[in-house]
Amino acid sequence: MSDTHFGFQTVDETQKAGRVRGVFDSVASKYDVMNDLMSMGLHRAWKAYTVAIANLREGQRVLDIAGGTGDLARAFAKKVGPTGTVFHTDINEAMLRQGRNRLLDEGLVLPTLICDGEALPFGTASFDLVSVAFGLRNMTHKERALTEMNRVLKPGGRLLVLEFSKIAPPLAKAYDWYSFNVLPRIGQLVAGDAQSYRYLAESIRVHPGQAELKAMMKDAGFGHVDVHNLSAGVVALHVGIKC
Ligand code: SAM
Repeated sequence: MSDTHFGFQTVDETQKAGRVRGVFDSVASKYDVMNDLMSMGLHRAWKAYTVAIANLREGQRVLDIAGGTGDLARAFAKKVGPTGTVFHTDINEAMLRQGRNRLLDEGLVLPTLICDGEALPFGTASFDLVSVAFGLRNMTHKERALTEMNRVLKPGGRLLVLEFSKIAPPLAKAYDWYSFNVLPRIGQLVAGDAQSYRYLAESIRVHPGQAELKAMMKDAGFGHVDVHNLSAGVVALHVGIKC
């Protein structure tokens, strides 16, 4: 058995998925309002940038992994139109249910599936684009997940990984103060859960930075990987092309 990170804790890798499930079960109903509050609305700009880089065309097939409440799936669905397909997927039923209800309220019916990013229930070369936003950090075997994402892409298809990353050093102190003092307090006030937001701050610190994630994507089979730093590296968008 091997160990892995759950935030700053070291846990047996068989325990991580259950602990992550606990976090998202707890925050699902307040997830969207918390995203706006914690990022001061910036997550909308990061996602809009991701949608622009995706540059989808009508009729394309897209898989959104760890799709949660459906921000990316919804935007992608508008781009691929009625002849395209966007699969809205997540391992967590509470998050997926929240997202599906929200999309249904907007008149959008997408194929919605509970699925683990580490073992995708799709055939090889099925998608033009695969996305994972703020989800890879929570996965136990990131290399396995990236290899699966590569497998389900068509040759020439692209993987978009939007994830917290390493902030520019001059801003690191202020960002740490905000993350470890302010975030858990907002979590307690709004969602009644400081611990899950402490996990968020910790999990960002132990997640691979820009260069390390790029190397992991190359190891997983992506021939070319571009890195776009957003908000001074608070977040990075990695774009991998399957050869
Ligand atoms: N993509 C959405 C967004 O950007 O707003 C949701 C991101 S949320 C921070 C992280 C999501 O990753 C959660 O919904 C969680 O259930 C999901 N997740 C964690 N581990 C996963 C796994 N192994 N496979 C698929 N989804 C996973």
